[in-house]
Amino acid sequence: MDSAADHTTEPAVRLLADLVRIPSVNPMGRALTGAVHSEAAVAEYVEAYLRKHGIDVQVAAYTPGRPNVLGFVDVGAAHTVMLEAHLDTVHAEGMKVDPFGADIVGDDLFGRGSCDTKGSLAAFLAATTGVLRRHGEARHNILIAAVADEEYQFSGARHAVAAGLRADCGIAGEPTNLRIVRAHKGVVRWFLRTAGRAAHAAYPDRGENAIYRMAPLLLRLEEHAQALLAQPPHKLLGTPSLSVGRIEGGQAVNIVPDQCRIEVDRRTLPGELPEDAMHAVRELLADLQHWDMSEPHVAAKGMDVPEESPIVRNLSRAIHAVTGNAVVEGASYATDAGIYTSAGIPTVVFGPGDIADAHTAHEHISIAELLKAEAIVQKVLSTDFT
Ligand SMILES: [Zn+2]
Repeated sequence: MDSAADHTTEPAVRLLADLVRIPSVNPMGRALTGAVHSEAAVAEYVEAYLRKHGIDVQVAAYTPGRPNVLGFVDVGAAHTVMLEAHLDTVHAEGMKVDPFGADIVGDDLFGRGSCDTKGSLAAFLAATTGVLRRHGEARHNILIAAVADEEYQFSGARHAVAAGLRADCGIAGEPTNLRIVRAHKGVVRWFLRTAGRAAHAAYPDRGENAIYRMAPLLLRLEEHAQALLAQPPHKLLGTPSLSVGRIEGGQAVNIVPDQCRIEVDRRTLPGELPEDAMHAVRELLADLQHWDMSEPHVAAKGMDVPEESPIVRNLSRAIHAVTGNAVVEGASYATDAGIYTSAGIPTVVFGPGDIADAHTAHEHISIAELLKAEAIVQKVLSTDFT
């Protein structure tokens, strides 16, 4: 037996294998139903795990089949640390490895969610029960938050916050290769539509072409996108951005189209509100006609937790103690951390795994890194903050 195989008996590895074997694919707005496309089964597993270890649990399903699991450890400390990870994964179609097999090859455990972000969840759960097992070691109250729907609408985190979630600081588990992401961008996505009037394509003058009507809007948006990239950059995050990622319109080539729709992706800087970003676009197009804008279907704020805040300082120290090198950086992707930080819980992003492996056909995680994440979080939980 080699040393990697020995690791498979570690609680964090067994936990991760169990979590990967329970599919929790986010339907991402598609009309997909059934147990695979729900967080319910994996939430049940987490709930049972917490209860088995004597941790108080609350399960809140804000939509049927989309539950959040909250675990509370009160050791009478002044300070509560939230350990958060999402329960959902992206879809597993086209994967080149068994998405729900949790196969281990060498140091890697394979499967959908292994890296994004069941690895973080396993590390957080194992760290918590490890600290509790060594009675008296926990120096902070612990809030475990395993939430639904991060990959699509961040609605699990939003509902948790709306329901009064409280903690003094937090770590949102995402694959950061054990680096601290203390700032990231936000994102807002919405549709813009133009309307026309259908006619036979042989008589285009009898109709109004909705695709032509979209053209001037697109040119304005392209200019706006250029202007955003020319703004003064945030130190860690660069500039805000805008991209039109999809366009659809028309029913057939022989019909003048009466509908055209584009989907806009706008990345915001911390402190920039999604509604303000949309308002700027509305103003920009105000003199054009025959168009309207949808409500946002995704809206998440960015975050910027100060370098000197207790969670950044103390997590850095713990990473340094375990790996010898702590890196603090920014990221362009949005996470649940923006929602907690905006709600007054300074939350950084940290976890095992490489973001480049997330959502891929060969998604996997390094077991060595998973175990380091567990050790780092144990250190955070068992050390007084400075
Ligand atoms: Zn994730």
